[in-house]
Amino acid sequence: MTITDPNPAQSADTSAPLLEVENLQVEFRTREGVARAVNGISYTVQEGQTLAVLGESGSGKSVTAQAIMGIVDSPPGYVTGGAVRFRGTDLLSLPEEERRPYRGEQIAMIFQDALSALNPVFPVGWQIGEMFRVHRGTSRSESRKKAIELMDRVRIPGAAARAGDFPHQFSGGMRQRIMIAMAIALDPAVLIADEPTTALDVTVQAQVMNLLAELQAESRMGLILITHDLGVVADVADDIVVMYAGRAMEQAPVDAIYARPAHPYTKGLLESIPRVDLKGKELSAIKGLPPSLLNIPPGCEFQPRCPYATPLCVAERPPLREVAPGRYASCHYAEEVLNEQR
Ligand code: SF4
Repeated sequence: MTITDPNPAQSADTSAPLLEVENLQVEFRTREGVARAVNGISYTVQEGQTLAVLGESGSGKSVTAQAIMGIVDSPPGYVTGGAVRFRGTDLLSLPEEERRPYRGEQIAMIFQDALSALNPVFPVGWQIGEMFRVHRGTSRSESRKKAIELMDRVRIPGAAARAGDFPHQFSGGMRQRIMIAMAIALDPAVLIADEPTTALDVTVQAQVMNLLAELQAESRMGLILITHDLGVVADVADDIVVMYAGRAMEQAPVDAIYARPAHPYTKGLLESIPRVDLKGKELSAIKGLPPSLLNIPPGCEFQPRCPYATPLCVAERPPLREVAPGRYASCHYAEEVLNEQR
């Protein structure tokens, strides 16, 4: 067994942002052609910050997370450009053996489907304890003790008695708590939660989101919440990146986006959330479907679906630019979209 350096970031630049993704590009080379899944995404996560990354399926939000973790399935996936800096160190430039210690130790990830992410044939306490046995060389009895402490921390009732139970003996919400326990076991500086509540019912969703927020407040982790559901992140996120066809359409503090979105796509997403105060009114939906990544439309990626589109939108791809203090949008007409909502 190889015991890796438990804290690769000790030599890192502590004045640098916690995590910086810069102009990241990922493509999948398939028989049908090259699918450009991520086309120059950039964002920064600071200590104690929660960044929500929002988008429909195929927008590139999960592939970006996989590239940060260094787990893009290759082939067919390739990171073709950009940087992922953890406290100033570009992880993409490191050979695999130097990069591996960052995974789990400094940047951890919770996956969408806890049932398939957990091993069905080992008790959950054993699986959580494995984090300590493998990464820290901790003894079996000490690892079990730590696993039970973590199960307590993520509020699994009767943790000591349940450590010997198997994943199928837990509800969906409890399984997701077990995944969270595994992810925070090594005290990561950044936690990426990829649709952590998708498979759960609404009340359990809220409990899991509150748990993540509490754990983050305790440890000052940077938290990246990947979701397709604007409603889920409203109460917990500080900032939002809205992704579409592998690019950022809008980036802004959460309150600003909810009050007045600057991009027609974000506006469409917000208008499609059911609201109690608009009971009886027809729910609006964004027309059409997200584009195939094998065949991204010319100009603005959103133009075939956009009610504001003009010939300029087909001719020129709008860059992501600051359209109001602290907020960015890639739309030729973002100022007009903002102004019409005054
Ligand atoms: Fe719509 Fe044009 Fe703005 Fe794209 S650039 S979002 S098509 S108005």
